[in-house]
Amino acid sequence: AKRIVVKVGTSTLIYPNGKINLKAIDQLSYTLSGLVNDGKQIVLVSSGAIGVGMGQLNLTERPTDIPAQQALAAIGQSTLMTIYQQRFATYSQKISQMLLTHDVLDYPESRANVLNAFDKLLDWGIIPVVNENDTVAVDELDHKTKFGDNDQLSAIVASIVDADLLIMLSDIDGFYDKNPRKYQDATLLAEVNKVSKDTYEQAGGKGSKFGTGGMLTKLKAAKRMMKNGKQMVLANGSNPSIIFRILAGEKIGTLFS
Ligand code: ADP
Repeated sequence: AKRIVVKVGTSTLIYPNGKINLKAIDQLSYTLSGLVNDGKQIVLVSSGAIGVGMGQLNLTERPTDIPAQQALAAIGQSTLMTIYQQRFATYSQKISQMLLTHDVLDYPESRANVLNAFDKLLDWGIIPVVNENDTVAVDELDHKTKFGDNDQLSAIVASIVDADLLIMLSDIDGFYDKNPRKYQDATLLAEVNKVSKDTYEQAGGKGSKFGTGGMLTKLKAAKRMMKNGKQMVLANGSNPSIIFRILAGEKIGTLFS
């Protein structure tokens, strides 16, 4: 796999108490920088803007009104990018920011423009850090204007740049036959070859307080990857250097293939 998209969830970037997990961000920066040095082209899709914004304003509950969420995303996005910039610089790795809207799906021209920018950045050995442009795309329910979540955005980005692999880091070891937070006897599935109605039923509701996706959107992302003949690995991001082990072929997490 030469082109790899890595998606990190809010739960990987922010502690349950709202603090930014600098250790995880540092390990992520170290790992992705190492991969670029090994000749891989890496795109990072990062959640966490609203969560970081909440931390900046000492909010403990995610506001429900859209303007507040937009404002928090605007606050958090720049803070998050500052942190990434600092950490990646430690490993002499340059990064860039790409804020995408649904236009890349609606207009072939937008898609082509975005791909051109990705191609150039990757060619230059720079890691694009991608997020949805939350101040532009506001309508949470209208999926005509919003991707809705970074899980599916990461699969869309993977298809735009024609990545072979999507590595999705979350707060859980992989996909289980039922929600392991609810059922103690849940078992981890090492490999999933088809995402069907039954698979969706194995995924419970929303996950963490700060995240928005949950397992459902991860399954949709996996389905999109598999439809394109590509793979996705869902693994625990508590130590993002797990990516080295995934790429070394170790059987960790869940492989959707
Ligand atoms: P992130 O912030 O990394 O995107 P989420 O909290 O949105 O993560 O989603 C991961 C959560 O999905 C898990 O912590 C778990 O609570 C929940 N979940 C529901 N069903 C399953 C399942 N079958 N296997 C694994 N996790 C599940």
